[in-house]
Amino acid sequence: MEKLAVQKGFNVEEVRKDFPILHTKVYDRNLIYLDNGATAQKPQVVIDAIDTFYAKENANIHRGVHFLSQHSTGLYEEARNTIQRYINAENSYQVLFTKGTTDSINLVAFSFGELVKEGDEIIISAMEHHSNIVPWQMLCERKGAVLKVIPMSTKGELDLDAYQNMLNEKTKLVSVTHISNALGTVNPVKEMIAQAHAVGAKFLVDGAQSMQHTTVDVQDLDCDFFAFSGHKVFGPTGVGVLYGKEDVLNAMPPYQGGGDMIKTVTFEKTTYNELPHKFEAGTPNIVGGIALGTAFEYLSTFDFEAVEAYEKELLDYATAELKKIPEIEFYGEAENKVSVISFLVKGQHPYDVGSLLDKLGIAVRTGHHCAQPVMDFYSIPGTIRASFAFYNTKEEVDILITGLKRVITMLS
Ligand SMILES: *Cc1c(COP(=O)(O)O)cnc(C)c1O
Repeated sequence: MEKLAVQKGFNVEEVRKDFPILHTKVYDRNLIYLDNGATAQKPQVVIDAIDTFYAKENANIHRGVHFLSQHSTGLYEEARNTIQRYINAENSYQVLFTKGTTDSINLVAFSFGELVKEGDEIIISAMEHHSNIVPWQMLCERKGAVLKVIPMSTKGELDLDAYQNMLNEKTKLVSVTHISNALGTVNPVKEMIAQAHAVGAKFLVDGAQSMQHTTVDVQDLDCDFFAFSGHKVFGPTGVGVLYGKEDVLNAMPPYQGGGDMIKTVTFEKTTYNELPHKFEAGTPNIVGGIALGTAFEYLSTFDFEAVEAYEKELLDYATAELKKIPEIEFYGEAENKVSVISFLVKGQHPYDVGSLLDKLGIAVRTGHHCAQPVMDFYSIPGTIRASFAFYNTKEEVDILITGLKRVITMLS
């Protein structure tokens, strides 16, 4: 790929040109895509990277002497380097390719989990995605460890005093989301990591909602693990990353056995490969990794301060406009939040509202957003969630508001 120039400021109309799907129609109406929390759309450069790979570059990596195999290995490893630079990891071999956030968390739960003993404690929070709950429940069941949950307030903010009181020398690992997919809350993970380290616990950041909204520096955070999915950061599905500290990863046993993760194999004894290969058994999602690298090259052309300011403006505008509709109830009003708005229309099931909005070309998500405990906390079946990306506009917010007013009239 040609080197992309770094942009100054932020121009949403220019950015929208990069995303072909934003110019398509559904039910003969312009698509208004407000489901970025579930997955983000792909810029043309990412689509091209996938096309080009299969049309001209496809070969398996790490094994072949032939031209294409060496070429594809180079592209794959270059993608790893791009991601390393983007998240400021110490070394590229600390960037492990996985299938996504879920896979990254399961890797830690199963591999780091081997070091967990009966009576050890794992801490998660009340606002976790199911993929940052269930692997820990499974681990605790296997090992006889104890799962503790940091409570949250009605506003959707974690109770940090309760967290401090939960930490003790039995705490093995804390695993908390950086940004809540259901509520938009940005958690103060840097401070939480320092607190965990003070008692000798490791810390995993679920970063599935991070880099589409903000920048991340894993060394500055000082996290032990950072997990994210390619498809939410404008890359392909089926690929993601687990970053880990070198000593922590080295102390962990392999997660899966197979090709690429070994040094030597005999029927008597197998020795394992070094990082990152120790944790990358089998042929990976090669094109996914390469195109994820392209997504990060694309992201690195943005002035993220300007992106964050733009998204804040969008969030404030959408919140203010929604507040003018008396039937709307908000869920999650944290002081520090990103452009995710969870709400309900009083007296209406979220599914009905979502289905009618869909007929107007407006894609929102309805339901529990893979965070059933959050919905239980508020005693609701689910919410309607409008989650914005940097390519969304105020005009789209206006269309959502008009659509909602129409839907409310229809349903009442
Ligand atoms: C999407 C999401 C996940 C799971 O990601 P997958 O891509 O489905 O593996 C985990 N945590 C959060 C906060 C998410 O938003």
